Amino acid sequence: MAVATANYVRVVIDRAIHRELDYQVPETLAPLVNVGSRVRVPFRDKSALATVLAVLENSDVRGIRPLEAIVGDGPILSSELLELAKWMSAYYCCPIETVIRSLLPQVVRKAQVSWKKQLFVRPGRELGAEELDTLRKRAPRQAELAAAVSRLTEPVAAADLLRKLSLDNQTLRALAKRGLAELREEAVARDPHAEDQIVPTSNLALNLEQVAALGTIQQALDAPAEARPILLHGVTGSGKTEIYLQAIRSTLDHGRTAIVLVPEISLTPQTVERFKGRFAERSDMVAVLHSHLAEGERHDEWHKIHSGRARIVVGARSAVFAPLKDLGLIVVDEEHESTYKQEDAPRYNARDVAIVRAKMGKCVVVLGSATPSLESYFNASRGKYQLVNLTQRIDDKQMPQIRITDLRQERRKHKTAAILSEKLITAITARLEKREQTILFLNRRGFSTSLLCSECGEARECPNCSVALTFHRQVARLSCHLCGHTAAVPKKCPNCGKDALIYAGFGTEKVESTVSQLFPQAVVRRMDADSMTRKDAYRETLRAFRTGKIDILVGTQMIAKGLHFPNVTLVGIINADLGLHLPDFRAGERTFQLLTQVSGRAGRGEVMGEVFVQTYTPFSPSIQFARHHDFQGYFEQELEFRERCDFPPFKHAVLITARSNHEGRAKLTAETLVRRLKESLGSEFTVGDAMPAPLEKLQGQYRFHILLRGEAIMRLSRLLRETLDKLPFPEDVMVAVDVDPYQLL
Ligand SMILES: [Zn+2]
Ligand SMILES: [Zn+2]
Repeated sequence: MAVATANYVRVVIDRAIHRELDYQVPETLAPLVNVGSRVRVPFRDKSALATVLAVLENSDVRGIRPLEAIVGDGPILSSELLELAKWMSAYYCCPIETVIRSLLPQVVRKAQVSWKKQLFVRPGRELGAEELDTLRKRAPRQAELAAAVSRLTEPVAAADLLRKLSLDNQTLRALAKRGLAELREEAVARDPHAEDQIVPTSNLALNLEQVAALGTIQQALDAPAEARPILLHGVTGSGKTEIYLQAIRSTLDHGRTAIVLVPEISLTPQTVERFKGRFAERSDMVAVLHSHLAEGERHDEWHKIHSGRARIVVGARSAVFAPLKDLGLIVVDEEHESTYKQEDAPRYNARDVAIVRAKMGKCVVVLGSATPSLESYFNASRGKYQLVNLTQRIDDKQMPQIRITDLRQERRKHKTAAILSEKLITAITARLEKREQTILFLNRRGFSTSLLCSECGEARECPNCSVALTFHRQVARLSCHLCGHTAAVPKKCPNCGKDALIYAGFGTEKVESTVSQLFPQAVVRRMDADSMTRKDAYRETLRAFRTGKIDILVGTQMIAKGLHFPNVTLVGIINADLGLHLPDFRAGERTFQLLTQVSGRAGRGEVMGEVFVQTYTPFSPSIQFARHHDFQGYFEQELEFRERCDFPPFKHAVLITARSNHEGRAKLTAETLVRRLKESLGSEFTVGDAMPAPLEKLQGQYRFHILLRGEAIMRLSRLLRETLDKLPFPEDVMVAVDVDPYQLL
């Protein structure tokens, strides 16, 4: 292959300067530098790390400086991933250096961590019987070790061997000196799942619907260039994971590799073991990427993928950038999940990036969900995606019976707001008698959600954010769930000085304590961010629940997803209205998804499940459609609303946030920007007014929103970038651009 003479390189440095720079390549480095190489370059009066975007024969930049060094062993960014980075930069209106920072883990970019080295031992020259005898007399320990080493059929870790024989390093060194053992340092992977018990599994039998779904994916794998993205719409418990596993097997059989994206919260040991167990033919076949890896582990997993040893990657959002070659399949499980959206720059959605990466690399993409996002289902209904339905639970298990409890009636009857309705209490009692398990769901942490003064009406607010502080009883403090600020509980109202403070609203901590009082004989555990602070707590609680040591599990969204417990026959949703009335066009969609997902936890075993949904708005469409397991009905109704309001999927939205410690400057910046955008965007796009954000103050900063809408998102992004580049913003105002936003708060 002819290689272009590398006289110059064009790079982006690891700092957001919004510019590409050219450097000269010294002759000695020319054969080593390539597109995707990491290099060290002089920048201003310092040096900086950078990524090579292009190798050039000529450059017309004057006063060009030479690059200083090449970092690492070879290019770490393939041209395919560089293409993807450029697309993301254009689509998400974000500098390419910021995109590359997301694409490559820091530990890989900086190349400061390397492999863990371990000493391996193998037999040296042959040991004669006579020599062994002499050795036995003079150095019995060396003799013992020599005998063990001579029996080795493959190299073993020296430390393991010495431990087994209770011998020390000195003995081994002496043996090596005599030539009776050969020592070599080798790189070993730090395997975060080394302690997991991996039980090899084989394909499970599929039902007819699963067979058809797998067939569709296999057809696509046979002709990936023509394949459309596949949307796998399967009810909870319909066996989607088994389809993924068998589709990955087909992908490997085609000589290609696969990525499986799962929401971080579903990336449980149970999930990882399932993939590792199915592809257990080689221990490094499956790499796992998520945010809880130690730096060394992340380095090893990444290089395991980069070197081609791992052929399957299971991971959270950023695993969409896994450096696999010959990618044949990307699965995005729970594709509707908001955690696929990154809330910092680059504000990308991993599902959408997966579709683009698949298109660029001619590979198959499968989106799976029990509650597809409106965008994906819309694409399927228009024929842009191929729709595959799974309407049956595996083994013909019934969908749970969903009952709505009207909390307004309960309140009229009992004159106070109950946490558990009478019907739910009766249902829990019945489960306890039958030794079946219950899950109670409330998506709000803490004990009381506000502390109010009954005299002057003032609530304790966070000094940094415009939200009320939540009371946590266990630590006896007030805390802000947005910025983490905590405060002591005042004895008297700090505003009027009266002794009239009352606690209002409730969270999971209060539910746990109420349930424990109502059912003193039951074992109750809580699972939320407050109770799961220890590293192993999550795993331990799930294990205890699975083995039946817990009767009632109370939790937040941590327990809503993907968990599979055959003995859970009752799910209680304590307050379905949380989230329904947020000022966000996705509020209804999220509520429908959450209710369906949580309900899906019930009745995964032999007994049919029952779900109680407690609500003050029993007739809201999201709740009614979820109750009847009617996705189609919900979809049509919601789509009509979105069309009427020009919201996605009909128009793209872009949310701009201007924030500052200084309220006036944030506001002025937003207003100026609106004026400029109205001039530069033209009538093709709608520019909303500068408005205080629903969450006006966050972490001490005042926030103003501008919402843009339009169809041609690439053009909108470009025009927006040009306008922003021309505007001189005050130093203390930050402007953030969010294309296809998920959070409007
Ligand atoms: Zn007061
Ligand atoms: Zn706060």
